[in-house]
Amino acid sequence: MKINVTKPFIPIFDEYVSEIRDIWENHFLTNFGPKHKELEQSISNFLSVSRTSLFVNGHYALESAISYFNFPKGSEVITTPFTFVSTTNAIVRNGLVPVFCDIKEDDYTLDATKIEKLITNKTVAILPVHVYGNVCDVEEIARIAKKYNLKVIYDAAHAFGVKYKTIGIANFGDISMFSFHATKVFNTIEGGAACYNDASMDEFFHSIKDFGITGEETCEQIGGNGKMNEFQACMGICNLRHIDEVLAQRKRVVEKYIDRLSGVKGIVLWKPQKNVSHNYSYFPVLFKDYSKNRDEIKTLLAEHGIYARKYFYPLVCDFDSYKSFRKIDTPIARKISESVLTLPLYPELSDEEVDRICDIILGCGFNY
Ligand SMILES: *Cc1c(COP(=O)(O)O)cnc(C)c1O
Repeated sequence: MKINVTKPFIPIFDEYVSEIRDIWENHFLTNFGPKHKELEQSISNFLSVSRTSLFVNGHYALESAISYFNFPKGSEVITTPFTFVSTTNAIVRNGLVPVFCDIKEDDYTLDATKIEKLITNKTVAILPVHVYGNVCDVEEIARIAKKYNLKVIYDAAHAFGVKYKTIGIANFGDISMFSFHATKVFNTIEGGAACYNDASMDEFFHSIKDFGITGEETCEQIGGNGKMNEFQACMGICNLRHIDEVLAQRKRVVEKYIDRLSGVKGIVLWKPQKNVSHNYSYFPVLFKDYSKNRDEIKTLLAEHGIYARKYFYPLVCDFDSYKSFRKIDTPIARKISESVLTLPLYPELSDEEVDRICDIILGCGFNY
């Protein structure tokens, strides 16, 4: 039996069918229909944020969020190289320049102590990533942004449902982007959202994903087509009903991994952060001076039909598409990227399967 790094959550078939039945009554397939409206409201409630603007995917939501500020072309955005390439592509596709800042050794998020020396007179924003659902140093980032008058846009693709000091994660920064891709904690098949608290952004987000149209005969900006359709929204409505159970199952799996793998020499496990209510979106493990290196462990698992993934290797700045950008040394990110493996994690993964994965990993260790 094959075990992949993730297995998308879907509701039982009949639940989805009964949700989409309304579409056969109203013939509303897309363009801000009733399901779209309902899901926006439910997500805002769940995340405790005042505004949610749904998108066809997370990437388009992030590109749009950046474009809201209309930064001059060539402006610099401080960001992390330890992320999915979507983050950085969204910056560059807005005509802006990514400036890579190193990450922290303990939670892999942006190292706020290294941001200030990267600020120039061209810097306009900071774009940190709550990687693996780990919360960035939101307070320090807010302080720096205020001091230098910078915008903060969070890539919260991994952080759906995460809270910091009991506050919903979308309440930090100017705008947060969530991804509802099939592989994420909460999915709408494909999908995403921009979340924010400033009501004056509503009109922008509504029209940017609808070609810039603001009325029957008016077009006030140059938008694309990024609307979420009603079938996706129905999947979201169903999946959101089960989110508590999904998070509880993920927690069970993570605790099982920690129980089996903690204290093993050469293995560094993901650990919970202080004051954070986690969503257990990924389980990254570093193989440092273990009997086998990361790549060998990955191959070994694959030989048993278990497919772990190297999130995130290579660093974004090492892709061919980023070769022409200024190189900044990010030694911590590089080190983490070379030793990290994210192990399979999804609600249905049984304790016995986690045991099997751990047995394989421990079976080649020194102290087993
Ligand atoms: C998934 C992801 C995205 C892109 O989201 P899509 O919904 O797939 O477009 C952006 N950033 C990060 C960190 C992601 O993991």
